[in-house]
Amino acid sequence: MSDKIWLSPPHLSGEELKYIKDAFDKNWISPYGDNIDSFESKLEAYFEVPDVALVNSGTSAIHLSLILAGIGPGDEVIVPTLNFAGCVNPILYQKAIPLFIDSESDTWNIDPMIAEEVIISKIKSGKKPKAIIAVHLFGMPCKIEAILALGTKYNIPVIEDAADALGSTVNGKKTGAFGLSGIISFNGNKTITTSGGGVLISKDPEIIRQAKHLSNQARTLKPYYVHDAVGYNYMMSNILAGLGTAQMEVLEQRIAKRREIYSIYKSELSRQSNIFFPEEPEGSHSNRWLTSILLDNEKSRDHLYHSLAENNIESRPVWNPMHRQPAFSSFPFYGAETAQQLFEKGLCLPSGSSMTEEQLERIIACIKKYMQ
Ligand SMILES: *Cc1c(COP(=O)(O)O)cnc(C)c1O
Repeated sequence: MSDKIWLSPPHLSGEELKYIKDAFDKNWISPYGDNIDSFESKLEAYFEVPDVALVNSGTSAIHLSLILAGIGPGDEVIVPTLNFAGCVNPILYQKAIPLFIDSESDTWNIDPMIAEEVIISKIKSGKKPKAIIAVHLFGMPCKIEAILALGTKYNIPVIEDAADALGSTVNGKKTGAFGLSGIISFNGNKTITTSGGGVLISKDPEIIRQAKHLSNQARTLKPYYVHDAVGYNYMMSNILAGLGTAQMEVLEQRIAKRREIYSIYKSELSRQSNIFFPEEPEGSHSNRWLTSILLDNEKSRDHLYHSLAENNIESRPVWNPMHRQPAFSSFPFYGAETAQQLFEKGLCLPSGSSMTEEQLERIIACIKKYMQ
């Protein structure tokens, strides 16, 4: 059997151990130290913001974003249903209510028109949603400018889940830096990784100051512990920040490689009438974290998934909509069948930036064989 090809494995630069060793040499293995400082400054420069808050996961960054947007028990939060649970669980941590919105068919992300209808009808019924979470699924930017316009029009804060979308842009501006706050994940399968981790981004330094405070058990600067709020233990370790510092140095290469993988898949496979590739809308630039395709129906999706698996190639169906999950099915859903259709027909192909030419050829040959 040939080697296993993973969906999106970690891709180290080779410089990681240098920064990790530095943390050990200096004995700064807590959540403070030079690696934290340098990873933060690289991210600040990248997003052109004065400060960022490193945390232990993308999910914690979303949780802090919700708290800082004032979300509490009974509040309603607009969120796309085609999504990863890590984006929805924190709404429940706050005992708030997710309002699941269907996808638009071009970007697969939250449909701004349905979102607006929901906002209008909610305002009529006397309860305005308290936040909108916009997600850039698989790196493809959502219609963030339309979502921000809704936020402004109805005075609702927008939080950006750019967990997948480090380096994606809309009209030249990086996803993650549009909303009141935005988050990126550094989980092992993302574009760059700290093994586990995340960052909270905001143009407003006060939001970041509060995020750092809450992520450190909300302890104040007194020599004895004084806690002025309920806090969390969400900080990133200086050891893992060493991974992030090294990974930032190769970020542009990693994105270029993922985009190249997408374009090779597309040029090799888009002549097949039964495989469809989503395109970037005008002005949008996706980091192509995962190349995702649509097949004719669920049967051919399952057929391709199993055929790849038999050939030791990992692929993954597109996210299973949140409103159909046992954990979340009691919450309202607005829309029709778009997200469900994307789930049934959609497949994410191996897209890791460490993929070799031979591996990519092997995957493409396998797809051609089983999809003719
Ligand atoms: C990965 C991911 C998250 C969660 O990030 P973690 O670092 O794994 O907690 C949230 N939202 C989306 C869309 C993701 O893909």
